[in-house]
Amino acid sequence: MARESRDVFKQPSAGTVTLDEPPPGVGRGASSRTFFGHPVGLSTLFFTEMWERFSYYGIRPLLVLFMTAALAQGGFGFERNTASSIVGIYAACVYLASLPGGWIADRLLGLRRAIWYGGILIALGHLSIALSIVFARSAFFIGLIFIVLGTGLLKPNISAIVGDLYPEGGSRRDAGFSIFYMGINIGALVAPLITGILGERVGWHLGFGAAGVGMLIGLITYRLRADKTLGDIGVVPASTDPAEHRRVKMSALIGVGVIALLVILTMSGVIHINPVSLAEKMSVVMLALALLYFIYLFVLGGLTAEEKKRVVVIILLFVFATIFWAAFEQAPTSLNLFARDYTNRVVFGWEMPTLWLQAANSVFVIALAPVFAWLWISLGRRGRDPSSVAKFAWGLFFAGLGFVVMWQASNVVIANGGSIRVSPWWLVWSYFFQTIGELSLSPVGLSSMTKLAPFKFKGQMMGVWFMASAIGNLKRRCLSSLRRWCADCSSSRCGG
Ligand code: GLN
Repeated sequence: MARESRDVFKQPSAGTVTLDEPPPGVGRGASSRTFFGHPVGLSTLFFTEMWERFSYYGIRPLLVLFMTAALAQGGFGFERNTASSIVGIYAACVYLASLPGGWIADRLLGLRRAIWYGGILIALGHLSIALSIVFARSAFFIGLIFIVLGTGLLKPNISAIVGDLYPEGGSRRDAGFSIFYMGINIGALVAPLITGILGERVGWHLGFGAAGVGMLIGLITYRLRADKTLGDIGVVPASTDPAEHRRVKMSALIGVGVIALLVILTMSGVIHINPVSLAEKMSVVMLALALLYFIYLFVLGGLTAEEKKRVVVIILLFVFATIFWAAFEQAPTSLNLFARDYTNRVVFGWEMPTLWLQAANSVFVIALAPVFAWLWISLGRRGRDPSSVAKFAWGLFFAGLGFVVMWQASNVVIANGGSIRVSPWWLVWSYFFQTIGELSLSPVGLSSMTKLAPFKFKGQMMGVWFMASAIGNLKRRCLSSLRRWCADCSSSRCGG
């Protein structure tokens, strides 16, 4: 794949100079220094993604609190159900946008420019949200749309470039992704601590603004370091056909036009969106979209027999990942409520905030990611590196173990008629096992997508990967719409 990637740079239409081959993982014109023994380009991607995730996880928990806060407290005064549906739709759209974002990078912009434009859009989105608190409510939702579009361009493509740093593939690439994943979680850990204090205690706009500042730092980091450390990696898109570029530009413009029209019609009250029912329908639509996409890939993707085989493995991993995220993404919802209602959070006579228990996952990821990086490399050296499917199976097993722990904890609560609060260690152990599952599956999944993706579909395959997260984020809504459908079926269609 990397061989092909370097060949693209040699095409005259790419307008590149012919230099000596750089060492593996170092683009032409990049420094050959290293970062924890890995190509130095990893540091640029690590810090850019760390700040992007800081901005994402900085506002996600704040959104529900802000939207449900009373008008007098500066919030929107929305119902809890409406607010959490909006957050569910937002989180799902953020990951869903990875599919067109990856496609645009493959076919038009190239990974590097896609990341840059994505970062700009995200920063503008945060700015719009921070200003909306002071000026106009509509700017809040427009800001969220900007973040969705920007993350769609940035998230899949920055992950795809990490793969390009390891043309040799193998366990070193998995290890590189484990380090990259640590950056993600440093951002995810610090963000709510800062934006929570600023947003909840000082002023909403400060919390949202701080997340925006984080994205700005990420953008500057990327701008200053990308050329020096990545050289020409990800500069040229997989397709250099001008006719295809025109088609993609046109489709992107139509897409943006449709979104703008929907925003105008909604803001002027011509169409009314019910977030609760939209969230339910979306999950089903997304499953259908994923299915259609895979059919398109097989029928019209122009894949070779070998590439088709690899796409079959991608589909298998996609199914595993969807199940995993559907369980894992319960952390901010049902496990969070368990922490609030049934967990004794008093430490030395002081009750810690519910949200603090959420940090356990990121703490464990940061502590364990280097262990996993080491584990994959040392198993690889002995020729005993497990396959990605085996690692995924372990991921699901450990996620399941995390829920067995919570099943026990719930039994204790139920046995006491719901009148006691259990030790926080139940949740901590559950997060510990879930994190082991996450580290066996998530960075490995990112890495596998870069290995298995047909060359022309690198960005898009990363989009497919994040689509599993999108569906996982809406699974509760999916289940409740299925339940309602079954209830309708048994009462009316099937005669009760
Ligand atoms: N926590 C990881 C991130 O934010 C994985 C998220 C996901 O794919 N659901 O990138």
